[in-house]
Amino acid sequence: MYCPLLVMIVKMLYYSTKGIAPPVTLREAVLRGPAPDGGLYMPERLPHFDSAFIRALSGKNLKEISFEIASAFFARDISRDVLEGIVGQAIDFPIPLVEVQPGVYSLELYHGPTMAFKDMGARFMSRLMSFLYRNMDKPLNVIVATSGDTGSAVASGFHEVEGINVIVLFPKGRVSRLQRLQITTLGRNIHPLEVEGSFDDCQGLARNILADKELNSQLTLTSANSINIGRLVPQCFYYFYAAARLWDKPGGPVFSVPSGNFGNLTAGVMAMLAGLPVRKFIAAVNINDVFPKFLATGQYKPAASVPTYSSAMDVGDPSNFARLNMLMGGLPANFRESIMSWSFTDGQTADAVRRVANDTGYVMDPHGAVAWLGLEKYAGLTGYTGPRIFLETAHPAKFPETMKVILGKYEYVPPQFMMLDEAEEKFTQVPYDAGAVKDYLLGISS
Ligand SMILES: *Cc1c(COP(=O)(O)O)cnc(C)c1O
Repeated sequence: MYCPLLVMIVKMLYYSTKGIAPPVTLREAVLRGPAPDGGLYMPERLPHFDSAFIRALSGKNLKEISFEIASAFFARDISRDVLEGIVGQAIDFPIPLVEVQPGVYSLELYHGPTMAFKDMGARFMSRLMSFLYRNMDKPLNVIVATSGDTGSAVASGFHEVEGINVIVLFPKGRVSRLQRLQITTLGRNIHPLEVEGSFDDCQGLARNILADKELNSQLTLTSANSINIGRLVPQCFYYFYAAARLWDKPGGPVFSVPSGNFGNLTAGVMAMLAGLPVRKFIAAVNINDVFPKFLATGQYKPAASVPTYSSAMDVGDPSNFARLNMLMGGLPANFRESIMSWSFTDGQTADAVRRVANDTGYVMDPHGAVAWLGLEKYAGLTGYTGPRIFLETAHPAKFPETMKVILGKYEYVPPQFMMLDEAEEKFTQVPYDAGAVKDYLLGISS
């Protein structure tokens, strides 16, 4: 007999945003990635934190806050001990909140191993996957196609995680040297394949492999793209952390989020709906401006993406829009109440990097600079002087060529990247041919 109440007490269910595929458990949602109907999984309901809980966060550190939030989402599926271990291993780097100008703070999300905020989600998801897949006799093969940044964050996130192999498909000659080194020097359970082809070819191969019946009958395969719910939830943690650090400041925090696929912003909105007081979100975008146009007109019109300095935000059809839309009840008016959004050009972005460096000595990367511009515009329109936080999603040293163009000179190489030069590169070259990738996979699994 089906007893919905009992199911709710025992496990949290995850629903597809398309509402056609049946709800699944956390294990299925994380191991699957996208739902079979093409939608994205969302928890059946968000936790609710009362104001006493939120106030108490100011006495806690980053790991403690992360653990509290993670427990609220996952405690019905994962024991507290295990969850504490996952949080501890995933978030083993600091997230400084740096006051750049009076009332304006940079939330530096880039102190993880690949120096971009995607480390946070990737590291948490990998350990969550490993736990959910425990006690299986065959390894889990994670297939990821990359144009650079995602592959390095995922590869690093899964490095030496038990029971999992990662196969990274990257296009020959089309990723930067730094990105390639971040993928090819890890070794162990990370298997980089340099594909004779473009990024789209890599994606095509990944899709082909994931759908291959024969392969699926012999191996366990999954993907690790940015829409996995296991990557989204940990991105809520740092909103609580940053707000808790600034409780003593009058006025609620404004968060400006440099947005591409809108996972980061969606996580912030989830935090707000779970009880975090937020004055306003700013979705700061480059000239790929589908979202601010949607806020202005109520019409969501995907477009082809255009290359910019803030390349990780060059997205013409943000994949997490479906989740945001669900959280907002599908009503543009609800979006407008919580979120403002503006688009900025490369010229404005470069100018912001130079101005802030000259005025304060603080060097922003092009993505963070777009978010900075969002805060400037907000303050100009509203006169607000309370706490304003922009999310710094990558270290500027990740983009040395662009930084050189913007500043004339940029030479800093962080220790993480210096070490890459000494490490040995190992990768396998494959033609643009699913058969070759299949043979490779069967080879490493036998
Ligand atoms: C991925 C990325 C973004 C965009 O984040 P979304 O969650 O896709 O909106 C912004 N900045 C950097 C550096 C990124 O790598």
